[in-house]
Amino acid sequence: MTVRVRFAPSPTGNLHIGTLRAALFNWLFVKANKGTLILRIEDTDKERSKRVYEDNIYAGVEWLGLKADEGPLEGGNYGPYRQSERIDAGVYAKVAQQLVDQGKAYYCFLTPQEIEKEKESAIKKGIAYMHSRKSSEMSSAEVAAALASGKPYAIRFKMTENRTIRFADLVRDAIDFDCSLLSDFVLMKSDGTPSYNFAVVVDDAAMNITHVIRGEDHISNMPRQIALYEALGYDLPQFAHLPMILGPDKSKLSKRHGATAVTEYRDRGFLKESFLNYLSLLGWSPVGEQELLTAEQLIEAFTLDRVNKSGAVFDIQKLTWMNGQYIRQYQDQALLQLVKPYIDSQLLVSFEAFELPQQQQMVMAVRDNLDVLSDINRYLEPFLASEAEAKAKINAIDFNDQQQQVLQLILTKTQHKNGFNCANDYTQLLDSVCQELGLGKGKVLKPVRLALTGMGSGPNLAELLVFFGTDSIKRRLSYVID
Ligand code: GLU
Repeated sequence: MTVRVRFAPSPTGNLHIGTLRAALFNWLFVKANKGTLILRIEDTDKERSKRVYEDNIYAGVEWLGLKADEGPLEGGNYGPYRQSERIDAGVYAKVAQQLVDQGKAYYCFLTPQEIEKEKESAIKKGIAYMHSRKSSEMSSAEVAAALASGKPYAIRFKMTENRTIRFADLVRDAIDFDCSLLSDFVLMKSDGTPSYNFAVVVDDAAMNITHVIRGEDHISNMPRQIALYEALGYDLPQFAHLPMILGPDKSKLSKRHGATAVTEYRDRGFLKESFLNYLSLLGWSPVGEQELLTAEQLIEAFTLDRVNKSGAVFDIQKLTWMNGQYIRQYQDQALLQLVKPYIDSQLLVSFEAFELPQQQQMVMAVRDNLDVLSDINRYLEPFLASEAEAKAKINAIDFNDQQQQVLQLILTKTQHKNGFNCANDYTQLLDSVCQELGLGKGKVLKPVRLALTGMGSGPNLAELLVFFGTDSIKRRLSYVID
């Protein structure tokens, strides 16, 4: 059996973390099983669905490299892959009519006001509202007359009564649903659009989906979907419902907890590798302790039976830590390429005034300070300040005798400028100053940094010294020592 899975977002907002996590798990599963990934756009809600949101979905999945094999942009043999286009092609109307013809669904001409009344009366009686088939199902002659008069209608499914539907999932234990508590539900709305439960079953069957992997908020829909599969005589796919993603307060992750739109994370400078890695651990864990895993390693390790049942907390600090770890794996030209798009436009002008090797030196010097790529802007100032700005800052600082002594020794030791080529040379220099003066690291590093940049903190000092080179170092120290 070829595995066919689908990712079915609704373009009613920017792609959020929960939806991307579902896409990722589908992707990992499909790659692990050499199957086919389908992207289906569930845009039945004409009011709320927008093309910009659809584009945002594409941007998010493309960022992580979760390429679909079939979809609106990719094409394929099971299209169209937008539900709006399937509505236009009459896909759902045809199946709904088939269910009506078989007596498994019926036209319901109740107006929204009439339904509201029934709901109010249920509330008054203190009972749960159940749609009354008796009051809405009509004889075929009555239906024909109502249709001829142009009365709006919905098509409702006759929900199986007096039975229990048992639903077994690949992630959690079987759940029993008592159907007597479930009303007949709408398949086709009066505006000719299908309900979610109907469209999803029709499409999953039409697209030969073998495994449905999605968020657990859809578990409550299972009895309706299973009843539909049965009524239509379709084989049931296998299901895996993924645990909820929670905020730190253990409530469902929402805007309140910070950014939920995936592209915001991209724009702040999270790397796709770390975002993908972190997302994979939201509700799943590999065998063993290792947490930093490449996409290939994740594919290798991924199985649905290691998906957790309980909710997964989205921990921004852990994601940020992981991002830092991934940034530290980049060097020189690759790091420069990664970071450059995040440099603010004003700083970029001065940055680009430097030659390529110096640009690389700058980004390498600050690499270990970066949690996200956009942090770069906070660290470039000491490199990019003009000599006059630096001098003014350095002159405004009072260096005590001990600090002056440190700087004097550095000056002496850098007279032979040939010995200083790399960060290691400068680390040795700083160490030797510590030793000769019997001072701790802090007492040496601080005045050097201040005398070089006028700032109390900043990038790795040895790297900074490499960048400046002995001539500039001597010049700046001379602003302090006459
Ligand atoms: N469009 C639905 C959603 O975004 C898809 C649910 C499903 O995968 O069945 O929640």
